[in-house]
Amino acid sequence: MSALVFLEGRNDELSLQAVTLAESLGGEVAAVEIGGPYAPSAWAQAIVEAAGDADIVGPGSDRGNEVLAHVAAQLDVPLAANVTEVRGGEVTRVRWGGTLLEEARIHADRRLLTAAPFAFEASNSLLQAERLAPELDGAVRVVEHVAPDTGGKVSLADAKVVVSGGRGVGSAEGFAILEELAALLDAAVGCSRVVTSAGWRPHTDQVGQTGTKVSPDLYIACGISGATQHIAGCKGAKKLLAINADPEATIFAHADYAVIGDLHEIVPAISAELRKVQAT
Ligand SMILES: Cc1cc2nc3c(=O)[nH]c(=O)nc-3n(C[C@H](O)[C@H](O)[C@H](O)COP(=O)(O)OP(=O)(O)OC[C@H]3O[C@@H](n4cnc5c(N)ncnc54)[C@H](O)[C@@H]3O)c2cc1C
Repeated sequence: MSALVFLEGRNDELSLQAVTLAESLGGEVAAVEIGGPYAPSAWAQAIVEAAGDADIVGPGSDRGNEVLAHVAAQLDVPLAANVTEVRGGEVTRVRWGGTLLEEARIHADRRLLTAAPFAFEASNSLLQAERLAPELDGAVRVVEHVAPDTGGKVSLADAKVVVSGGRGVGSAEGFAILEELAALLDAAVGCSRVVTSAGWRPHTDQVGQTGTKVSPDLYIACGISGATQHIAGCKGAKKLLAINADPEATIFAHADYAVIGDLHEIVPAISAELRKVQAT
């Protein structure tokens, strides 16, 4: 059986990971991209028409999962979202923000799948993607995008470096040293849910399962324990530097670089070194 991959963009990392999942199914793989404003139901309709009876695969992004959920509803076929492996009609998929790997059987003749983010390498196959332009009459669609006010600073989602703080920062005022380090690195400041729940930072700064998912070159986790719901938001980072007072903290299991100690001493010390380097 062949598979049709829905690409959010030809160079979109999660879409290219979805291509790898589609290729693992063993049949021919074709791809579609969709032009025009985001309209999940209309996009799904266009994908259903393009797919014929092929399996349909999408990226495990917010849009990928939403569009394929509409595809599933229109075809009355179950969607297996955030899949890490497929064995015929059986899948392994990530559930509960990464805390559980579920093995499930698909009760349908065809497979609708999204690829769990970063469970697959990005494919380097040179797929020709057909560009679809669905009819939007009457469809729910996005009519306006309002960018969050970042006060001229780099946004959390786009930042190459994220300096993130958890309960260990201790207070809203405690974030001043993280802001200072972030300014030196042209980084964005993120935080854990404990921090937003305490009102130290706005929800827009939260990284994790119920916050923003970031994929910077470097994620600096300061006073963050490494709960799975937090890691779900930063596991796309290329490198993770953890600063934590507790040598047993779970975050160290995810870290490329570890500093054990008090962040209130370590973060200003890093900033001081950076200032010296930048002055020369
Ligand atoms: C459904 C659900 C969704 C959730 N979604 C999210 C989410 O999107 N994002 C998220 O972050 N969490 C989320 N959570 C919460 C998550 O489970 C954790 O409770 C949270 O991430 C913990 O935040 P923390 O690491 O800041 O705090 P803690 O777990 O309390 O860790 C604080 C860390 O700081 C260290 N520390 C203390 N003082 C210092 C110091 N002076 N110097 C250095 N280190 C120090 C400690 O050793 C500890 O490791 C979710 C939970 C649920 C149930």
